[in-house]
Amino acid sequence: MFYFEEISGKKVMKSTLLEGLNHIFTTRESFIKTKETEFLSIAEKNKSDIQKFLGAEKMIYPEQTHSANIRIVRPNEDFYPDTDGLILSEKGIAVFLNFADCTPLIFYDEEHGISAVSHAGWRGTASMIGVKTVKMMREFFNSKPENIKCAIGAAISKCCYNVGEDVCRKLISTVKNPEGLYELRNGELYVDLKGINKRQLEDIGVNMIDVCPYCTVCDNDNFFSYRKENGTTNRHSAIIMID
Ligand SMILES: [Zn+2]
Repeated sequence: MFYFEEISGKKVMKSTLLEGLNHIFTTRESFIKTKETEFLSIAEKNKSDIQKFLGAEKMIYPEQTHSANIRIVRPNEDFYPDTDGLILSEKGIAVFLNFADCTPLIFYDEEHGISAVSHAGWRGTASMIGVKTVKMMREFFNSKPENIKCAIGAAISKCCYNVGEDVCRKLISTVKNPEGLYELRNGELYVDLKGINKRQLEDIGVNMIDVCPYCTVCDNDNFFSYRKENGTTNRHSAIIMID
């Protein structure tokens, strides 16, 4: 279940499933990422408040390119080009990825003390970035899919995510059973990105999954939407830290 909390008086979101993991989904109020000069100082202030709250030595983020490339965070490496998923086992480093409609995925393997965060837009979802993250956690850290918890954050939802036939086909072909994950409304196709990510994970044995009910378009008061806000560069973030 997702719930709201405050850090320095600003609204953040968390998942009860990830209890035990330092994690934060920022909102429109607590955003830490923008390219718009008028918002830079607010984003920096929010970021420093969150860093203090977490007690993180540093906060790093990769260069997201809608790829399905995943890397493991190394303590002395802060630059991850062309990377849309980071796996974290190091303590004291906060890692975040940024979103405005795309699906945030946070993974947690309590047994091995590791976490990961991935960016699943339609391209990432079609390339099964969530499944790739789990496979890499298994390969490098012996994580068992049945022990991995996943929180799927706010994203553009089936109510609003209108796509072309080609994109729809690419997305639903990634799951064993696409029933209920897309629909035809007034001659237009709508897909459930969060639901497709969830079902891809279930197909490989990840069953502890918490799906955020919020849509970035319908719940635009709390989250950013690239589509609704004409290509805004403001982002909400998914942040993780191991301690
Ligand atoms: Zn909606």
